[in-house]
Amino acid sequence: MYEGVVQDLIDELGRLPGVGPKSAQRIAFHLLQADPADVRRLAEVLIEVKDKVKFCTICFNVAEDDQCRICRDARRDPSVLCVVEEYKDVVAIERTREFRGRYHVLGGAISPIDGIGPEQLHIRELLTRLGDGTVTEVILATDPNLEGEATATYLTRMLGPLGLRVTRLASGLPVGGDLEYADEVTLGRAFVGRQAAT
Ligand SMILES: [Zn+2]
Repeated sequence: MYEGVVQDLIDELGRLPGVGPKSAQRIAFHLLQADPADVRRLAEVLIEVKDKVKFCTICFNVAEDDQCRICRDARRDPSVLCVVEEYKDVVAIERTREFRGRYHVLGGAISPIDGIGPEQLHIRELLTRLGDGTVTEVILATDPNLEGEATATYLTRMLGPLGLRVTRLASGLPVGGDLEYADEVTLGRAFVGRQAAT
């Protein structure tokens, strides 16, 4: 244990995802020795990101305005909607350049162990969005793991009665992982080879 503010820093860093106590200590000591201007820049960007970045009111993607760049882009196909868990999945799919439709970010996946049910996700907003008939295909692009599968199965059941084409990414993605870990080519292929959800 360290004195006062140094320990506070280690504690805060240790709360970040993927940062264990040892890494937290290492980062803290790195910061203590770093150029004050570098540390100030880091502190400023942390505050700025929380002030400036909002979530899109339509798709819940990260946005600097009320609507994200993709929802504002009239060239994107409004009839195809890709449902993903997180903002980082949008980034991963955009990198493949295989998709020209729009997104809906759920904000996670169904996970009873973590107390996350359908009502904690942006599923109600998804159903509302689908209500006007613009969207004719929904692509379920949840992570290829247990929670992602459960979420896709739930959504397939919910969307069934709406008479839309509901598809899932083709297999071939690394099972058990996150969508973002798939390389561009693999993810792009999974997109092109998408199949009807059952
Ligand atoms: Zn949006």
